[in-house]
Amino acid sequence: METMATKLLLTFAICRLIVTVGLTLDPIELLRLGGAAASVAVGGVQLSVDQSDMESASMDFGMLTRAEPLAVLHPSSAADVARLVKAAYTSAQVFTVSARGHGHSINGQAQTNDGVVIQMSGSGAEGRKRVGPRPCPPRVFEKERFVDLWGGELWIDVLKSTLEHGLAPKSWTDYLYLSVGGTLSNAGISGQAFNHGPQISNVHELDVVTGKGEIFTCSEEENTELFHGVLGGLGQFGIITRARISLEPAPPRVRWIRVLYSNFSSFTADQEYLISLHGQPDAQKFDYVEGFVIVDEGLTNNWRSSFFSPRNPVKISSINGANGGVLYCLEITKNYHESTADTIDQEVEALLKKLNFIQTSVFTTDLPYVDFLDRVHKAELKLRSKGLWDVPHPWLNLFVPKSRIADFDKGVFKGILGNKTSGPILIYPMNKNKWDQRSSVVTPDEDVFYLVALLRSALDTGEDIHRLEYLSNQNRQILRFCDDAGIKVKHYLPHYTTQEEWMDHFGDKWGRFHQRKMEFDPRNIMATGQRIFKLSS
Ligand code: FAD
Repeated sequence: METMATKLLLTFAICRLIVTVGLTLDPIELLRLGGAAASVAVGGVQLSVDQSDMESASMDFGMLTRAEPLAVLHPSSAADVARLVKAAYTSAQVFTVSARGHGHSINGQAQTNDGVVIQMSGSGAEGRKRVGPRPCPPRVFEKERFVDLWGGELWIDVLKSTLEHGLAPKSWTDYLYLSVGGTLSNAGISGQAFNHGPQISNVHELDVVTGKGEIFTCSEEENTELFHGVLGGLGQFGIITRARISLEPAPPRVRWIRVLYSNFSSFTADQEYLISLHGQPDAQKFDYVEGFVIVDEGLTNNWRSSFFSPRNPVKISSINGANGGVLYCLEITKNYHESTADTIDQEVEALLKKLNFIQTSVFTTDLPYVDFLDRVHKAELKLRSKGLWDVPHPWLNLFVPKSRIADFDKGVFKGILGNKTSGPILIYPMNKNKWDQRSSVVTPDEDVFYLVALLRSALDTGEDIHRLEYLSNQNRQILRFCDDAGIKVKHYLPHYTTQEEWMDHFGDKWGRFHQRKMEFDPRNIMATGQRIFKLSS
């Protein structure tokens, strides 16, 4: 205890000396010295080495990897971020900086153990912890229909702020406790993407701190290379400190419908038909198109299931018949305003008439828009209460080209998975023309491609099929199957460990990606948890 206190005092004394006398010590040395202190100053910003900060920055939602940083920064402005990055970039002994949004990555993408984690998220809403002042609250521009947001803002807080003005972003993720910077670094997709594109297609402007510690505003018109690079850029070119996101009038209510299929080709034909309507501005269409696969007791045993029970009980076996136990659920919504409440039934009816689902399997619910968007959080709370949320998540997200989705169904859903899933399996198509090819994200080379998301949890039930090793092996088997069958999938939320694999992932986009890296982060200090580039000495 005494030695701890002595070390703490010593560290503070050194820090004060550096600040007051202007003595320069290499930041990395300073960070190491800070081991027993609560905070340490580097590059003019105060970093935390508090154990609880270090602990949360060491982990993520996946719970598969752990890396403890040297310190954590809770920035109160973009200038704080820039000061720290500049210190890392100019330091003789270079160190890494990793922006961390809400830490909902699977494979340590926001972690680092040879540098500083910049904790971008942490708004005070609903008991969530915020250390220091909120950098800047969302600012809504009603007339222009956009909102300016801090990069660490969570989408749930974005929604709450914009709703005060009767507006809302157009494109979402299924779960809203993710940060703006975190989802824009990937793509940000949900059932609206077929119509509005991913979240990265709905950005007007960004402020970005590059790997040299410079702050730039970028958009379609200004600093375009940085703008397109950062969108889907896996945090490689800079830290998003402000994003300007497009808004639309928020619909007050949602009609939410689920229908079942036992025939995969009818299911995908209907999904593809529904997303093809995006090109017809005057056509009646659903506002959200998703779907999921049910290969076991999935209707009652996964976090997408509450919809069906208890008021809407469904016996899978009564519908399932002889289809190898696999069912497909199409999930669609239609937004509406109270003033159109009397026509919503007919509109939905007219759209459903064109589909070929099992007629006895229509499940309908009606709810406020905000409750629909925040639906996964309800499931989260349930899982948390049972201790089933903070468990390892060996998730696998793939973009599968439309031309091979039937082969994927045969080989994976009806093959490799057997009859157990250990979590939801989402499947829905998107239109490639809604994705800007200048962004960093990569998608299959076809006009329509599917997201297949195997969102599984590893549990300690004693049963082999729930074990992490079993699920991870199965993921590898799925990838091997795609490889052998020549199904050219692309990973969404990719995770690779060698540069060769990354080059393969990016394909003909690699050259540009690499060039952007050399220009905006030449010392490779940013987001090293992605394992694309190694820190240069
Ligand atoms: P983090 O995990 O904190 O960071 C992810 C990466 O982005 C890291 O490399 C980090 O360095 C970088 N980064 C973070 N902030 C910034 C910033 N401000 N500037 C630059 N780089 C930054 N994704 C979808 O598209 N659709 C979904 O429906 C969806 N649902 C999900 C549901 C759950 C329960 C979970 C756990 C994840 C889901 N995801 C979904 C995936 C999610 O979008 C990504 O994991 C995203 O990165 C998480 O955001 P985050 O703020 O937690 O990012």
